[in-house]
Amino acid sequence: MKIICIGRNYSDHARELGNTTPEEPVFFCKPDSAVLLKGNPFVIPEWSQAIHYEVELVFRINRLGKHIEERFAHRYYSEVGLGIDFTARDVQDELKKKGLPWEKAKAFDGSAVISESFIPLGELPDPTHIRFRLEKNGEVVQQGNSRDMVFQPDALVAYVSRYMMWKMGDLLYTGTPSGVGPVAPGDLLEGFLEDRNMFSVRVR
Ligand code: ZN
Repeated sequence: MKIICIGRNYSDHARELGNTTPEEPVFFCKPDSAVLLKGNPFVIPEWSQAIHYEVELVFRINRLGKHIEERFAHRYYSEVGLGIDFTARDVQDELKKKGLPWEKAKAFDGSAVISESFIPLGELPDPTHIRFRLEKNGEVVQQGNSRDMVFQPDALVAYVSRYMMWKMGDLLYTGTPSGVGPVAPGDLLEGFLEDRNMFSVRVR
């Protein structure tokens, strides 16, 4: 199973980090070892002083595909979940400055929170306007709506498939809206999709 994450897919978030909105999707990978195991706390790695949360809608790929046309892309996923793309922002800033790949900042152990359950798209009030939010210690810190994505899921599934084959069970993290910020030991992060609680993660 591989995890593909999209960067800068909400223009308000791209702006808050001083980035421009991309003309083509930006993507990177996390290995399966990045998944935070169920019930485990997120442990802040000792080599970063700035771990940020990024709440993201996650689509699970349900069949094998490559070179997928955008108009057929909806056939490759049917459920949506919610996750966090934990990012070592200080390390990422250093890597960006040097023009180096982001893996150390993005692909470390525990950096991919994923909800246990996925919701069939047909059960949502409107699958083109999916609302989600992240609460830190009971306060809303991020909220988003899938209609604000720069590139919609169909476009992302098709784009990535030009470079990498999708396999059943692969996860697509679709980028984060504005409001990203740091975590500290003791924080509780709770994700909601259409007001359903999808995950609760304690930070250590
Ligand atoms: Zn992200």
